[in-house]
Amino acid sequence: MLVVRRYNNNTQGSDVNSDDNNNNNDDDEMFDVYLAKWQSIPGAVLPSDPLPTKQSFWDSPGITQARQQVEESKSDVTQKAQFLAASAPHSGDWLLTLPVVSCRLKLDDETVRVTAALRLGLNLGAPHTCRCGATADALGQDSLVCKQPASRIARHQHLNDLMTRALVSAGVPATKEPVGLIRRDGKRPDGMTQIPLRSRKLLVWDVTVVSTTAESYVDAAAHGRGEVAEMAATRKCQKYSELSTAQLLLPVAVETTGP
Ligand SMILES: [Zn+2]
Repeated sequence: MLVVRRYNNNTQGSDVNSDDNNNNNDDDEMFDVYLAKWQSIPGAVLPSDPLPTKQSFWDSPGITQARQQVEESKSDVTQKAQFLAASAPHSGDWLLTLPVVSCRLKLDDETVRVTAALRLGLNLGAPHTCRCGATADALGQDSLVCKQPASRIARHQHLNDLMTRALVSAGVPATKEPVGLIRRDGKRPDGMTQIPLRSRKLLVWDVTVVSTTAESYVDAAAHGRGEVAEMAATRKCQKYSELSTAQLLLPVAVETTGP
């Protein structure tokens, strides 16, 4: 990290003593060394005077370079997918959340350990045989793609509750799993507003969670940030293409380790 301060090398006519002059010269020399080092970073462009005073300006090129180096060092497709997911915008927002117990925003230590390890691609525990019969490795990725996890239904319901509560708190009445929408296969979306919103249409939503590192998605996830969520959203749009023109579909697609 480079901390920058403005310096004044104009001592003409000043009454500073020789010690101050020596200190200033040392500081200026050090500043020049650091400035040259900073300018050697690709993308580090110094604007004309005055020098920027925000630390983020000076940090940004180094962070971009470090991120690029880490990304280029990933050869395994799963590692690459994990890195892209972890560096996607908003995928780390939970790390900035204030742990307020009364708002149910506090995670217990074990949850933080598991979530951080999944995000960073670290080992979670010993390899074992999952109850679905698959081999679960130390990275714990099987838990996100397992075909028999009880938590998948709870996860889906929790997200659906969040959508409903958000709409209701915004003064928009909404109902979960509405009946009466035309679907030949009998399936229905997760929820619908009871009053028209955008374009005077009723907002219909459907939630889906997709595993970033699942075999069927990992290539797409290693290709770009948020691509798996985009694919899932497109599938939802196709699934509900028969909705009435009075309804507007909002697909809510969430990646397990990404945005
Ligand atoms: Zn399993």
